[in-house]
Amino acid sequence: MAPHAELDGTKTTLHKASSLPRVPEPADENDVMREQLEYLIGHATERGACSCSECQRYIRVRSLLLEIFSEPEPEPAQQLTALPMAA
Ligand SMILES: [Zn+2]
Repeated sequence: MAPHAELDGTKTTLHKASSLPRVPEPADENDVMREQLEYLIGHATERGACSCSECQRYIRVRSLLLEIFSEPEPEPAQQLTALPMAA
């Protein structure tokens, strides 16, 4: 009686040494960003604004992330293409 006899010898060919060096992948950038964001939010929530460098980062990031939710500043009308119609 050897019910697990099939486990031996069927899947061993997968262990070829790959010639490609596996570059150790850095942590997923998106995960890092999420972590940083959570960290900064946590910091700002715990400490309030203690105006340390972490708080500065939080304020910058928050203003960027909430940019689309704020009313755009009315643009000064200086960039109008007012070409002088020279006759
Ligand atoms: Zn702080």
